[in-house]
Amino acid sequence: MTEELDPFKIAQQELDTAAEVMGLDKTAHGLLREPKRTVIVNIPVRMHDGSVKLFNGFRVLYNDARGPGKGGIRFHPSENLDTVKALSAWMTWKTALADIPMGGAKGGVICNPKEMDDYELENLSRGYVRALGNVIGPKTDVPAPDVYTNPQIMAWMMDEYSKIAGHEEFGVITGKPVEVGGSEGRFDSTAMGGMYVLRETAKLAKMDLKKAKIAIQGFGNAGKFAFDIATRLSGATVVAVSDSEGGVYSEKGLDYAKLSDVKGKKGSVSEYEAKGAEKVSNEELLELDVDVIIPAALENQITDANADKIKAKIVLELANGPVTPEADEILSEKGIIDMPDFLVNSGGVIVSYFEWVQNMYGYYWTQEEVYGKLDTIVTRSFKDVMASQKKYKSTGKKISPRTAAYIVAVDRVAKAMKLRGWY
Ligand code: NAD
Repeated sequence: MTEELDPFKIAQQELDTAAEVMGLDKTAHGLLREPKRTVIVNIPVRMHDGSVKLFNGFRVLYNDARGPGKGGIRFHPSENLDTVKALSAWMTWKTALADIPMGGAKGGVICNPKEMDDYELENLSRGYVRALGNVIGPKTDVPAPDVYTNPQIMAWMMDEYSKIAGHEEFGVITGKPVEVGGSEGRFDSTAMGGMYVLRETAKLAKMDLKKAKIAIQGFGNAGKFAFDIATRLSGATVVAVSDSEGGVYSEKGLDYAKLSDVKGKKGSVSEYEAKGAEKVSNEELLELDVDVIIPAALENQITDANADKIKAKIVLELANGPVTPEADEILSEKGIIDMPDFLVNSGGVIVSYFEWVQNMYGYYWTQEEVYGKLDTIVTRSFKDVMASQKKYKSTGKKISPRTAAYIVAVDRVAKAMKLRGWY
């Protein structure tokens, strides 16, 4: 990783930009540039062959001025503390922008889950909770799934925590299966939230989504459901999709059911075949002549190297950190509306928060209730961002939606810290 693309430095740089525009108090700024607590553990795990292997794990609580920490746990071979710190900062801004009573946190374990069987994964998941049980909890820091962790892993973790606590604690973790306290609507909540943002952004850009062409990078949990929901709810046409193996483009539009089938059977959407369909690389996909691009895979996909080649009118950041700060400026100068990740993909954490609320209540909502409440929160956040942008524009400061969103979020966290007497 080059120094300029170190995700934590990017997160700090984004905060610095917002702090300068809004004239943030220097002490508050200093407090918000670093995590409140970083815990590093070594977790001994019994492997299938009887040996014991040590895994390095982290839990970072970035800020809890507005409520308990909230953020996922990643199991990944190239996991590292700087990425976890950056993601915990972004979670802080995401929960504050959504105005849900939670702070920001993130966790990770350096491991390769693809090389581990269920016995080993269960032992690692339970070991993570035994090592970090004193820093996580329903009223302190509430984890969730992230890269290569899933509802089953959340169920094991909740079970281990409950055993240690001596009573049931469903609210310690979210993203659980519905049978053990999970929420309806969680599985596609990130994409659903993103589509509410797209609906509002299209109104702003005076774009008729029924006539819009969309390209999506990534066909995992975020990208796949975004395809399905965008075509079903807005009537838009998805003309290009990719995954780690490459992508496919068809001017007439791609067929969702067929694409899912190809992905399932052949392992990659790039194997899709139809009249008029052609292969595209991930780089080419981003530069297609479409109305909307949805990066839904990795960080740092739109940089100063390709930002001036983007032709879409709207960039909807469903992935975390797909656009670098330099690229954000270039897009803004070109008049492209780049909707920031911590607004666009906030649906996942908002429904995670709903899950926690339902666990605390012991009373569960229908899927329709969940989507309705999600729409209310996401639409309100969108309007808050637009109001912030307008406010600064009226004082002669032209700021991007990302900076506007940061200002809303940072102001909320700073106010909470001030009221609590932290500075
Ligand atoms: P996932 O693992 O389910 O899917 C990732 C997809 O990206 C896969 O289709 C993979 O093939 C593809 N991919 C990998 N490398 C690629 C490359 N070089 N070019 C193009 N595609 C590539 O992950 P996900 O849950 O869909 O998450 C995707 C992004 O969305 C991440 O940045 C994640 O942090 C973010 N996100 C996801 C959620 C969620 O609820 N799933 C919530 C918030 C943010």
